[in-house]
Amino acid sequence: MIQDILPSMFNNAYAPAVPQDDDVLFYFEGTQGGRCLAVRLDEDGLACPRAKDAAEKGAELRYLFSIDSTRHYLALSLPGGCPEGFAMEKTSVLRRCRPKELCFAGMTACHLYEWYAANRFCGRCGASMEHSAGERSLHCPACGSVTYPAIAPAVIVGVTYGDSILMTRYAHREYKGRALIAGYCEIGETAEDTVVREVLEEVGVRVRNIRYFGSQPWGFDGGLLLGFFAEADGDRAITMDTGELDRASWIPRDQIEPSEDLLSLTATMIEAFRSGKAC
Ligand SMILES: [Zn+2]
Repeated sequence: MIQDILPSMFNNAYAPAVPQDDDVLFYFEGTQGGRCLAVRLDEDGLACPRAKDAAEKGAELRYLFSIDSTRHYLALSLPGGCPEGFAMEKTSVLRRCRPKELCFAGMTACHLYEWYAANRFCGRCGASMEHSAGERSLHCPACGSVTYPAIAPAVIVGVTYGDSILMTRYAHREYKGRALIAGYCEIGETAEDTVVREVLEEVGVRVRNIRYFGSQPWGFDGGLLLGFFAEADGDRAITMDTGELDRASWIPRDQIEPSEDLLSLTATMIEAFRSGKAC
């Protein structure tokens, strides 16, 4: 999956240091569907600007994390915009590029970019927020409010019935590949409650025997995806929520195409089912 970057090591401890010339720099513009990132695409894959590309512009940089000995920074502001030699590309470019460590780093930077952008002012009193010195949090000097990076848990569910799995396609998203049932956890729910509710809402099927599979940080949406398999309980008739989905059907294991693109938890779960490693 996109976070599996061994032997490289991701270190998310907040340990700011003065940026050095070759530290990696992430510069974003826009939000959600129109969000872009300064990159260069060449035959070696993806490249991002370095701190030296912003040094003379008066950029305001925020330390993010490191991968091995390479520090990564976010440009909170960058006078003049995109550094020369780079272009603003949609952040979805990170889903299909290499090197993989940089794609994972870019996705995680994207999560923090959205959090910093959305928390410039205190939600309680409106004063400007300040960064805490020893940890990744923002605090309000006026009222003392403290906020930490928000991570939204969501579930992905592989619903099975004998030797078939329930596959879907989203109705209103750019992504039109195969999907599983998915949705955000709501207030007061356990992850298992979310599994039961989402499957019932999206396809009208009741489930039992819910089993945890694995998880994946998904910074594009500020999420943490929790993967589960569950069995259809009794009636497997599908009543599709057409507001969410435009396709939902039971696909036999032997009709699933093998996939080599296992960046996402969804693809990894489908492949685990196809190969008999999950259930
Ligand atoms: Zn405040």
